[in-house]
Formats: sequence, C-alpha cells, structure tokens
Amino acid sequence: MTGIAGGSGKNTKKKYVYLFSEGNGGMKNILGGKGANLAEMTLLGMPVPRGFTITTEACVKYYEDGEKITPELIAEIESYMTAMEELTGKQFGSAVNPLLVSVRSGARSSMPGMMDTILNLGLNDSVVEGLASLTQNPRFAYDSYRRFVQMFADVVMELPKSEFEKILEKIKAEKNKHFDNELDAEDMKATLTQFKAYYKSKLGSDFPQDPKVQLIESVKAVFRSWNNERAIIYRRMNDIPSSWGTAVNVQEMVFGNMGPSSGTGVAFTRDPATGEKKLYGEFLLNAQGEDVVAGIRTPQPISELALSMPKVYDEFVKIAQTLENHYRDMQDMEFTIENEKLFMLQTRNGKRTAAAALRIAVDLVDEGMLTEEEALLKVDPKQLDSLLHPQFDIISLNQAKPIASGLPASPGAACGRVYFHSGDAKKAGDRGEKVILVRLETSPEDIEGMYASEGILTGRGGRTSHAAVVARGMGCCCVAGCGALKINEEERYFMIDSHVVREGDYISIDGSTGKIYIDVIKTVPAAITGDFARFMAWADKRRVLKVRTNADNPKDTSQAMEFGAEGVGLCRTEHMFFGGDRINAMREMIIARSTEKRKKALSKLLPMQRDDFIGIFRAAGSFPVTIRFLDPPLHEFLPKEKAEINEVADYMDISVSELNEIITSLHESNPMMGHRGCRLAVSYPEIYETQTRAVIEAAIELKRSEGVTVEPEIMIPLVGDAKELKYVKNIITKTADSLIAESKTAIPYKIGTMIEIPRAAILADEIAEEAEFFSFGTNDLTQMTFGFSRDDATKFLDDYFNKGIYESDPFARLDTAGVGKFIKTAADLGRQTRPDIKLGICGEHGGDPQSVEFCHNARLNYVSCSPFRVPIARLAAAQAAIKENI
Ligand code: PEP
Ligand code: MG
Repeated sequence: MTGIAGGSGKNTKKKYVYLFSEGNGGMKNILGGKGANLAEMTLLGMPVPRGFTITTEACVKYYEDGEKITPELIAEIESYMTAMEELTGKQFGSAVNPLLVSVRSGARSSMPGMMDTILNLGLNDSVVEGLASLTQNPRFAYDSYRRFVQMFADVVMELPKSEFEKILEKIKAEKNKHFDNELDAEDMKATLTQFKAYYKSKLGSDFPQDPKVQLIESVKAVFRSWNNERAIIYRRMNDIPSSWGTAVNVQEMVFGNMGPSSGTGVAFTRDPATGEKKLYGEFLLNAQGEDVVAGIRTPQPISELALSMPKVYDEFVKIAQTLENHYRDMQDMEFTIENEKLFMLQTRNGKRTAAAALRIAVDLVDEGMLTEEEALLKVDPKQLDSLLHPQFDIISLNQAKPIASGLPASPGAACGRVYFHSGDAKKAGDRGEKVILVRLETSPEDIEGMYASEGILTGRGGRTSHAAVVARGMGCCCVAGCGALKINEEERYFMIDSHVVREGDYISIDGSTGKIYIDVIKTVPAAITGDFARFMAWADKRRVLKVRTNADNPKDTSQAMEFGAEGVGLCRTEHMFFGGDRINAMREMIIARSTEKRKKALSKLLPMQRDDFIGIFRAAGSFPVTIRFLDPPLHEFLPKEKAEINEVADYMDISVSELNEIITSLHESNPMMGHRGCRLAVSYPEIYETQTRAVIEAAIELKRSEGVTVEPEIMIPLVGDAKELKYVKNIITKTADSLIAESKTAIPYKIGTMIEIPRAAILADEIAEEAEFFSFGTNDLTQMTFGFSRDDATKFLDDYFNKGIYESDPFARLDTAGVGKFIKTAADLGRQTRPDIKLGICGEHGGDPQSVEFCHNARLNYVSCSPFRVPIARLAAAQAAIKENI
C-alpha cells in the first residue's frame, strides 16, 4: 500500500491511523472496542465495509495539545482516505463515483449512545446530484444528504437536532404523511433546502461543501464528544477512566435507505433480557443507522427477515453464530442490507440483564464454551444488584388493572411518581421520591434522570431502543414503545384512553410483562434461585475473602444471611436508639447532668439493646457478629426544631431554656472530629459498660435458653492511640468478665477496634497489642485522609469529576493510592504484633467490586457490606482470586 504514514520500518513516527485490515480484536486499547472488532471481522473474512480507525492515542494527543488536531494527523488521515479510494475504487468528493463515509466513535469499553456519529459524510450540492443519477434514486440521495446536514449540524456545530425534526414534522404534516419513508424525492429535496437555510440562518455560513473539511471537523467533534456531559456521567457510573480517550472509525457508507430491498438492524445472538439461546433483534426496511435505535418507526422482529430476504437472513444467522463462537460470548451486532447485500457494521459483547448474564454464563459452561472461572469473570458483580430488586406483590397486583401495555423491555417492577423530564426526575430522586420517568423516547441526555428512576416508560421505540438498552444495563425496569401513550412533555401529563396522569401522580409498570397501571402496587423483593445459586456456588469455591454484612437489626441480618453473608461485620449500635421509646431514653441519658442520672437512663436502654442483640445473634446463627459501640456525637440524638424541643423538655420535665442550654453546650464546630467514638467512653464509661452488659447478657441468655454459643466481637470506634484503646478496653473486660463469672458459663468474646483514623493506621503495631481484630472504617478513614467531610464533600466533588481531577467518588470507590496505603501499612503492622489478627473492612467500600479486589490483594480476612451487596462482594471476591492466578 502506498501513501500511508507510519507502518513498520526505522525512524517511523507514531502511527495514529490503522486500516481495518491492519488491526485485530486484541487491539482494543488503541483501536477502541468497535475498531478492534471491525478489524477482527475483517480478518475473519466477513462482509465489513472498508475503513480505518484513528486511535485512542490520537484522541489523547488531541486533548494534550489543547483540543487541537495536528497538521501531521490531518495528513495521516488524508493519506488513509487516499488508501480507501484505492481500495473502493471510489473518490471522496467526486460527483461521478462518490465515496461516502461514516464517522463513529468507539472507546475501549462500549459506551452505547454516549458519544457521536455522523453518517453520509462526503455529500455536498454536486455529489448529491451524482449520487441521485448513479443510483437512479434521487429520493435516497436527498434523504441521505438531509440526514447528513442534520447530523453534522447537531454533532459538529451543536445546533439542536430537534429543530430539524420540527422542520421535517411540518413537511410531513403539509404532505399529510405519517412516516418519513412516505416522503418522496421532491419532499426530501424541499426538506434539504429548508435544513440548509436553517443552518445558514443560525450559523451565518453555508453548509460546508469541502468533504475534507467535513471529515476533519467531524473527527474533531467525535474527539470532543469524549468529554460531553453524558459521556462523563456514564464513565463515572461505569468506572471508565477519562484518560482512555475514544477512537474514531471512518468507514465506507453502505446504505439501508436505498429502497425496500435495503434496511438496517440490530440483533443479539441470545435474548438479552432472559439469556435464552435464540437470535433476537429487529430491523427496519428502507432506513438508516440510527433509525432503529431512535424508534422512528416500529421495527420488525428479525425472524421476519427470513420471510422477506431468506438468503440474507441465512447468511446473517451463520455470521452471528461464527461471531458468538469466536468471541465465546453473546454478541450484539449491527448490520445493514444494501440492495439485498448484507454488511456487518459492528459486533460487541452484548449488554444484558443480570438474569440473562447468569443464564448465558451457566449455558456457555454447559455448552463447553467457557470454563467456570471464565464464566465467573464474564459477569459484572454490580449487575447482580438488579436480580435482587423488587417484583410486584401478587395480591396487590391481582387487585390492579392494567390500562395499557408496551414492550417488556427490561424486567423488574416499579411503582413511583411520574416525571417527564430527566432533570425533574433527578431532583425528585434526590428528594428521596420513587420516580418513573415517562418520555416519548429517551436519548443519552436523559441518562441522569434514568439513573434516578425506578422505572422508565416510553411511547416510542423497540426493544433495542435507547431506553431499553440503557435500562437493561442499569437493571432498571423499563416498558418501551407503548403506542397508547399520548404524552405532552411540555405540559407534563400523559393520557391513555380517558386516563390523565400528571406529573407527581403514581403509576406502576412491569418491565417483565410490559403492563402499565395507574394503581399503586406494592413491590416485594426478588427471589433468587436456579442459575444464581449454581453460579454463586462457583464463586464461593474460588474466593478467599469472607463476606459479612453491615446490619443493625435481626431482619437485615436474616436478609443478608439469605444472600450468603458469613456473619455481621458491623452492627452500628446507635441505629438502635432512634425508634419508638428508645430515643426518649437516649435523650434522657444525654441530658443527664450526673453519672447517677445517666446510669438510670442507660438502665432503660439496656433491655432493649439486649433483645436486639439476641435477635441479631439468632439470625447470624453460628457466624460471628461484630458489635460496634456507640460512635456518633451525642447531639445527633437531640431535637432540633423548636416544637420538638418544647415537646422533649415537657417529656423530660425540664424547662425549655434548660434543654436549650444543654443543646448549646453539646454544640461542636466540627462534630465529626469532636466528642464521638471511644472518646465518649473516656468521658462517660457507663455508656460502654451498659453496652457490654447488653452484649454479654444476650450471649448468656442464648446459651442458656437455646444452647447456642455465640462469640461476640466488641468493636471500639475511632481509636487513635493505644493507651486510649487500653483504657476503654478495660471498661469492657471488667464488666464482661464479671458477668461471665457470675453466670458460670463460658462466653468467648473478642475486643477489637476500627481503624479509621490515620494515626491508628500508622501506629497499628501498638494498637494491635490491645486489639484482637481490626476493621477498617473506610468512611471515616477516607474523610480523615483527604481532610474533607463525608457529609459535605458531595457539594464540590462534582467539580473535581468535571475537571478530571478525580475519576470516582473516594467515598464509594476506595482511594487505593492514599487510603489504601494506610490499610496496607496497618495490616502489615498489625500482623507484625499479632500474626493471627483478624482483618476486615466495614466502610461502604466493602461492597464495591474494585475495592473488594483491593482487600483481597491486601490479604484482609473479610469484607462487610450492606445486605443487598453481599452477592456482589461474593462474586467480586471470587473474581479477585481468579485474576490473581491468571
Ligand atoms: C466507617 O467510618 O467506615 C464506618 C463503617 O463507620 P461509620 O460509617 O458508622 O462512621
Ligand atoms: Mg466510622
């Protein structure tokens, strides 16, 4: 090949562009997923339109250079266009034999719909005439050109595409036509003229006629789209580093809009909702690229292609199977048919529901395609979340009557208040409301609102529409394409027959049946069996880390045990003091101005706390339970509003001014670093004395009445110094030992500490002299390491994400560099002093897969997380163990 920059040889400059025929599937890091797979399909001899990929490294350089594309890269791209001309025998910009291309983004990891695409590039006023006469199809030529103008204006010039859609809608209305494929060549020409006029009126210049300018501007726009808001949000949600950049694929156009023997479609090798092994997808005749996903017309199921174009269908089935066998995973493919000739435009491992992910993983093992370990690595642990999500309560459902149905696009059930705009949905979600987002169709701009919603309902679009695909990925229930839905997004209401539903009204939707209800239907948690149990058993065989749960009551403990928890890693005792009468006894204790009065109030709390512990021990069975003693600043329990203060003063039989004085005296400027944790026990030992009594008496009681031996682990929070720990530990052992001696039963118990203060971490060898176990409280440890408040940081962390300073929230994903260093140091020092010291983590990070991997590598004994994240942690722990051995 001549004229191509880079390549092999000495003194070659860095190669930023690769023909599809120069790459392969293993080059995802530089070619992006789409580019690498196009190269791989080309290698496999599949019908792939020719093209080239501009690498992710070129995008990174574009940003390094201050969002500029270098003359060298322009020259390299142009030399590849020349190569394409040679390969295709067509010319870029020629009216006689035009080469038209698509320009598409494609990052290392698929980010569906988040970045931009431009089709039909290379058309201009003279090429369109040439294309019309060459194809004898002027309607097709003008349709393609008007689409190009619209996409270029939207993606490159940032003119909203809705304005163009309005123009098209108006023309359709004038012509009394319903669908755009009913418009003829003259209508398309008129549309094009109006599009170009609109373009000029808004931008002050004509639509660019030079194809080279069109190309370079489009490449730049795709690079820019790497950093659009929705891409940034998507990356954050999916742990994709901003440093990766996107590749750009430039590919010869093939046309699905050439007439009734052309079309375009999307298909999966297995059902992405259930995992069933069958070709699943849809296609649209006489349509182009985005039409299927955007839901312009309702597509036909892929099986109907067997009737209309049997040869094309057979070829497609064969290719699909070859691809699945090749990648050993379910494939999601895009194809175009141009005059009965099939072209493959994309293949990738398909997004799927959690249920489908498990079924596919298990089936692929049974089919001999994957080993158990490979299958375990294929499922994203976070996805398991959605398996555990609610379904409708049968009785409540039986009393409800559906008012319409749409496509069951993503399983699960949801009941919530209706919102019509993504921003409103997000705000309502932030307020703690359950939200159903209702849209005519969704687009990537809606991503935040979708994330905030329990369910998504759309009026348009099929099972592969944006709403359906994104909802499935998120594990959020979705009913799509409900034709009966008449939505007025502007005035914020929808109608189905005579029912009017306004913003804020409740509806219920079932993503498994597609049914829509205006009733409030109760939801119940999902039951998990079958593939899940088998798959998780494989995980359990491989993992080294134990998985415990953070639970403060018997119900949550039982739930977590059902999900496979191996005991309780954190029982926050203060959570037990808020309900019913307890808060009054707690307040009495805080307000008490003498030890005697404090002890009296504590004696009221004792039996309640003891009963809680009995319930939790019972639920945990033979597994260990770690009980963390009182931790938060005391003023958190005191009333704040005037009316409440009056009420409490009345109840406590003290004056309002006296109570106000106490509240003021407990005020702290920086309570998170104030009088909390074990410092409370240093000032008021009787608090921990009482808690010890509750724990030990509960254990004695269980042993006596049920013959169950529990080994409580008492955990002291917020320790920063070995002497401090020793002092508090003495309070506990004195109380515990005398109770045990009195009871004449043997109750083994352990005393350990949280490591959540940097000082404790770096002096962990001293701390371990006193502590039988450490549990890393990474919520506080993160707060103290960064020096920003866990309560207030959200206010400014967004700025850090948007400016690329932080990739992820350090309170959700462990900062392995900083906080992680404290953990490793403390683990090593702790083991030096006490080789058998038990090490765990109980901050929020215990349920985050990447943080779990870190804990595995740091050789902790267990992670502890909220009940619903237990399966996630089990799988993440197994994956970490498998990865370590690869
Ligand atoms: C922690 O700090 O990580 C922890 C588990 O304790 P809390 O969140 O209750 O402060
Ligand atoms: Mg803490």
